[in-house]
Amino acid sequence: MTYHRNFPDANLYVPAVASETDCFECGKYISGAGVEYHGHDAQGKLAAVYLHPTCATVVAQRLICDGYPNRREG
Ligand SMILES: [Zn+2]
Repeated sequence: MTYHRNFPDANLYVPAVASETDCFECGKYISGAGVEYHGHDAQGKLAAVYLHPTCATVVAQRLICDGYPNRREG
């Protein structure tokens, strides 16, 4: 995960799963700060999603709410 103070000027080295300019959570353009998160695409290659910092906290909290109580499942 990487924080970019000015996302439009950031050097992005990992291909995007979706948009390279819009937030993965809300779908709106990232005009200021942004967060880059790396995972894997359907072919197993490193891929990134980009989020507004606020949207990153929403996604993180939702993942914790769904994941933590079920962490021993699957
Ligand atoms: Zn957003």
